[in-house]
Amino acid sequence: MNNISRRNILQGLIASAVVVGFDTANCSWATSASAAHSFVNLPHLDGVLYTDDAIRANTADDFGHLVHRYPKAVLNPGSIDDIVNIIRFARTHSLKVAARGQGHSCYGQAQVEEGVIIDMSTLNKVHSISAKQAVVDAGVVWSQLLQETLQQQLTPPVLTDYIELSIGGTLSVGGIGGASHRYGVQVDNVLSDTFNPDILDKPD
Ligand SMILES: Cc1cc2nc3c(=O)[nH]c(=O)nc-3n(C[C@H](O)[C@H](O)[C@H](O)COP(=O)(O)OP(=O)(O)OC[C@H]3O[C@@H](n4cnc5c(N)ncnc54)[C@H](O)[C@@H]3O)c2cc1C
Repeated sequence: MNNISRRNILQGLIASAVVVGFDTANCSWATSASAAHSFVNLPHLDGVLYTDDAIRANTADDFGHLVHRYPKAVLNPGSIDDIVNIIRFARTHSLKVAARGQGHSCYGQAQVEEGVIIDMSTLNKVHSISAKQAVVDAGVVWSQLLQETLQQQLTPPVLTDYIELSIGGTLSVGGIGGASHRYGVQVDNVLSDTFNPDILDKPD
């Protein structure tokens, strides 16, 4: 999943560089080439909005290979503000939105037909680790967090059996693992799912 080659990324960057807005009449992205149409401007984005076929096709699949929904665009957010802005924009223009972690769900849960995929893999920073808590972006995969906690001889209380899944993705299903008999599911161990800048990079 998320098997995006360097070539695809470059193609995406090129394609995305010319997206200037959304053509509400045709329900399509407005590019500089088609800018003669009336269109609404995209909000400011710190990340990249991809509209090329290869990247959209990569998100129209998942671990189950049963469902294939093609989005209109894929956002690689550069900030949490990007997510807020694209959801507001999508809501205004009746576009559906779906978050995508590692795409390991089996029945299209992380896909959206004709909508916008928010590929969470670019929000992948571990902000801080202490004996009490780890503060992470939702796109971090569990193996990445584990690698960093092990350096302090710590582990998250509950890991899924397969740890190349995103934290946001497993929290969305609860997250059960080998230590659940003792600590419950992963969501039982999450202090907050709301971004709070005050908890970033502060000692406990
Ligand atoms: C090989 C394999 C082993 C597994 N082992 C376990 C296991 O041991 N324990 C267990 O509990 N589960 C397990 N699962 C199931 C797995 O936890 C779920 O399929 C999980 O949703 C996959 O995470 P993902 O990052 O691939 O999410 P995706 O498939 O990308 O997304 C799943 C759902 O979460 C939503 N989502 C993703 N990121 C976010 C976010 N940041 N914010 C809000 N919503 C978001 C998506 O929109 C979608 O609805 C396993 C699955 C596979 C394929």
